[in-house]
Amino acid sequence: MLKNDMLEQWDRENFFHPSTHLADFARGEVAHRVVTTGDGCHIEDRDGNRLLDAFAGLYCVNVGYGRKEIAEAISDQAHELAYYHAYVGHGTEASITLAKMILDRAPDHMSKVYFGLSGSDANETNVKLIWYYNNILGRPEKKKIISRWRGYHGSGLMTGSLTGLELFHKKFDLPLAQVVHTEAPYYFRRDDLDQSEAEFVAHCVAELEALIAREGADTIAAFIGEPVLGTGGIVPPPEGYWPAIQKVLQKHDILLVADEVVTGFGRLGSMMGSDHYGLKPDLMTIAKGLTSAYAPLSGSIVSDKMWKVLEQGTDENGPIGHGWTYSAHPIGAAAGVANLKLIDTLGLVKNAGETGAYFNKVMAEALGGHAHVGDVRGEGMMCAVEFVKDRDSRGFFDASEKVGPRVAAALLEQGVIGRAMPQGDILGFAPPFCLTPAEADEVAEKTRVAVSLVLG
Ligand code: PMP
Repeated sequence: MLKNDMLEQWDRENFFHPSTHLADFARGEVAHRVVTTGDGCHIEDRDGNRLLDAFAGLYCVNVGYGRKEIAEAISDQAHELAYYHAYVGHGTEASITLAKMILDRAPDHMSKVYFGLSGSDANETNVKLIWYYNNILGRPEKKKIISRWRGYHGSGLMTGSLTGLELFHKKFDLPLAQVVHTEAPYYFRRDDLDQSEAEFVAHCVAELEALIAREGADTIAAFIGEPVLGTGGIVPPPEGYWPAIQKVLQKHDILLVADEVVTGFGRLGSMMGSDHYGLKPDLMTIAKGLTSAYAPLSGSIVSDKMWKVLEQGTDENGPIGHGWTYSAHPIGAAAGVANLKLIDTLGLVKNAGETGAYFNKVMAEALGGHAHVGDVRGEGMMCAVEFVKDRDSRGFFDASEKVGPRVAAALLEQGVIGRAMPQGDILGFAPPFCLTPAEADEVAEKTRVAVSLVLG
């Protein structure tokens, strides 16, 4: 085995880490960690630390670490057939079975699944399908996509544009011109503190209507949103938000993309976030929870309504000119089949709902009273704690104080992983669905201690 110091040197010299402060990492100011193994909700590193991962990697290891059933399915598939492509009607038993299992779990009006590898490429596929669809329908002007500020939809050129976070735009010349952003359904951060939830929803609807009027409905193809805002701060929508938004979209013939990369396959305690909030999407994006990250795999689920037009398009133009070499990769597909079976066998969607509700309750009890905690919010197995300088005004700490990252670091010191979300002083949690009530208690208590160490 390589010595730790050698590995650290190689790491700092050669490895371009994503979402990392490059200069600080090179200087040794960002810790380097070599993760070696995991079981259930825990990971271990080469220095012998055992950590409770209350963010499930990047909210993706939904069934927990170390699941032999998935590892064996991957191994069996690799021995049998590691790769064949899915072009021109080819598939494997695993990819065909998985497509069927996904459609069985999606809303009834969904029709087909196109496989990719990441949430970003699946959203890239979605935008291409939307443009193809409107071109076939003879509406070449209807192309813009509406996304929300604080939405997260990926890091590519188009998907990074859909993402509504400054960090992902700044110095990258994004967003691209075809993307326009609207208000996030972020009740806690509303401008007018006197607004009720219902009034705030009406305000979000009015903002959307105004944007559509400004741009012209005949230029807007689709609206994309996560059922619960994730990377933008773990923000469940206010009551009545989705029905009100869907009404506007229907009125203007604007397609709805439900980005279920985080919420798909159980995280909210419902199979899909769309079930949870009564969404009727035209496209759904799935990734992370599809394989619980045991292998990279994503998908775009296409509705009946869109599918009919896409079929017509290929009659007119030939085969669809969109394909990835690794679309429906057999190893990812085998992992997906084993993962979805395991979720059913262990009743993990139910546990995400029940233990998730308990987790949110104990987090609110442990933290809700602190003078610098402005909000504890969540849904299912997602929870966020938002820090404020002053509770009455909900004022922000100065960004240079790095309150969120410092609390996350204090929590890590006690052996628990939470995530300082990229915008605002928000500490996020999204544990594996196998979290136990005792582990939920541990996360809540250690977060309470971490907050008091940093903020008194
Ligand atoms: N959509 C959502 C809602 C996500 O949370 C993410 C990743 N955090 C993505 C898309 C992009 O997925 P990936 O990182 O696999 O490209």
